[in-house]
Amino acid sequence: MTSTFAPSEQSLVASPQELPAVDVAIVGAGIVGLSLACALRNSGLAIALIEAIPYARENTKGQAYALHQVSRRFFEWIGVWNQLLPHVQPFELVQLSDGEYPLQVYFHPEDLGTEAVGYVGEHAVIAETLQGILQSARNVTFYCPWRVVTNEVKGDRAELTLISGDPAAPKVAYLTTRLVVGADGGKSPLRQQMGIEPKGWQYGQSCVVATLDVTHPQPVIAYERFWPTGPMGVLPLPRNRYRVVWTLPHPEAQAVAALDDRAFVAKLQPYLDPRMAEITAVSDRFIFPTQLMQVTSYVGDRFVVIGDAAHRCHPVGGQGLNLGLRDVWALAQQILATPSERLGDRSSLMQFHRQRWWQNALTLAFTDMLNRLFSNAWWPVVGVRRWGLWLLRTVSPLKHLVLRFMAGLLLPLPSDCKLPRAR
Ligand SMILES: Cc1cc2nc3c(=O)[nH]c(=O)nc-3n(C[C@H](O)[C@H](O)[C@H](O)COP(=O)(O)OP(=O)(O)OC[C@H]3O[C@@H](n4cnc5c(N)ncnc54)[C@H](O)[C@@H]3O)c2cc1C
Repeated sequence: MTSTFAPSEQSLVASPQELPAVDVAIVGAGIVGLSLACALRNSGLAIALIEAIPYARENTKGQAYALHQVSRRFFEWIGVWNQLLPHVQPFELVQLSDGEYPLQVYFHPEDLGTEAVGYVGEHAVIAETLQGILQSARNVTFYCPWRVVTNEVKGDRAELTLISGDPAAPKVAYLTTRLVVGADGGKSPLRQQMGIEPKGWQYGQSCVVATLDVTHPQPVIAYERFWPTGPMGVLPLPRNRYRVVWTLPHPEAQAVAALDDRAFVAKLQPYLDPRMAEITAVSDRFIFPTQLMQVTSYVGDRFVVIGDAAHRCHPVGGQGLNLGLRDVWALAQQILATPSERLGDRSSLMQFHRQRWWQNALTLAFTDMLNRLFSNAWWPVVGVRRWGLWLLRTVSPLKHLVLRFMAGLLLPLPSDCKLPRAR
C-alpha cells in the first residue's frame, strides 16, 4: 500500500487485513501526535498515525491553548511555525492579579527578549495546519477513524489491533511496528494496557471554558487572575474574541456552566478586568475536571508515552500542551539519533524518559503550588502570596526568572540537532 496522508471520514482500509508494517506507530492525532508525525516527516522512517475520532469531528474541539516561547522554538525546529503564525494570536502583555488586590504584575516581551510574551492558538487551526503539512509527507499514513484496541509485543516488533470507527460495520486490522508511541490523551487506554501506572490526584475543582465575542478588544493582553475559588485565565483570540478558563469548586462550576448566556455573562463580568470591552456573545460552555498526574515510567516494551498520556497538570499557567510539545521535541531527536536496528529498544527510550520525566515533574509541581497558594483565603497564605507578588513586581531578575520558567526557557532545551530536510 502506498503511504498516504489522506484525512477522511471514510476508513482507508476496505476489509480486515494485515496493514503494511511501519517503523513508528503514533496512536492519537491530537496536537501532540500530529506534531510528532510532522517532526518525523522527512526521516525516511515509515510512520502510521492512528486516530479514533473522525477527522472533521476532531477539529471541532473548541479548545485553545496558550503557546509559550518554547513551543514557538519547537514549531520552528520542525519547520511549521511560518504556517502557524498567521493563525495564532500573539500577546504582548500578561497581567497577573490576586483577586481585587490592587497590586498587579505585568510581564512584557522585553522581559524575555522576544517580540511577544506568548501566543494563543485554537485546536482546530493548529490541527488543520499540521494535517495540511502532512498531506505531502509520503512516509506518513493516516488511519482515521481507527481505534487501537490492543498492543502486543512479539520479539522485536509490536502488533497493534485496530478497529475501524464505523460502528455499523466494524472492521479489524493488524499493524506491525518497531515502536508504538502513545499520544492517546489523559485516559490513554494503551498506557493502561501496557501496565504503566499513573500517579497523582484530582483537585476539587473544574474549569468552565467559554469563548466571548467582544466589541473593542484589547487582543494583546492575556490575564491570569487568581480568585479564592480558583484561578481564571482570559486569553485573547484572533477576531475580537477571548477564551475564558474559569476554575471553580465542582458544584459551583456545574452551576455556572448550566446558566443561560445572559446569566453566565452577568455572573462572569465582575471577575473580568473592568477595562475589558463589552461582551456581545458567548459560546457554549464546556467543563473539564482538573487533575495532576504523571506516570511512573514513560517507557514500556517497544512503547513510549508522551503528552497528556504521560502527564496532566492544572490548567493554571497554560502548561499542558507546551510540555507535550517538549516531549515530542526530545523524542523526535531520540528517534532520529537511534540506528534503525535499535529503534524501540528500551535502553534508547530510557534516555528520553530520564530527560523528560523530571523536567515535567518540576512544572507539574509549580502549577500545583500556584493553584494551592492562590486558591486559599487563609490570611497567612494570603499575606505570603501578596508579598510574593510585591517581590515579583519590584525585583526584576526574579520576575525574569519566573517568566522564563513559565515560558519553558529556563530548563535545558533538547539539543539542537538538525532535522532531515525534504528531498
Ligand atoms: C481547561 C483546559 C485549558 C487548557 N489550557 C491550556 C493552555 O492554555 N496551554 C497548554 O499548553 N495546555 C492547556 N491545556 C492542556 C492541553 O489541553 C493538553 O495538554 C493537550 O490537549 C494534550 O494534547 P494530547 O495530544 O497529548 O492529547 P489529546 O488532545 O487528548 O489527544 C489524544 C488523541 O488520541 C485519540 N485517541 C485516544 N485513544 C485512542 C485510541 N485507542 N486509538 C486511536 N486514537 C485514540 C483521541 O481521540 C485524541 O484525538 C488545557 C487543558 C484544559 C483542560
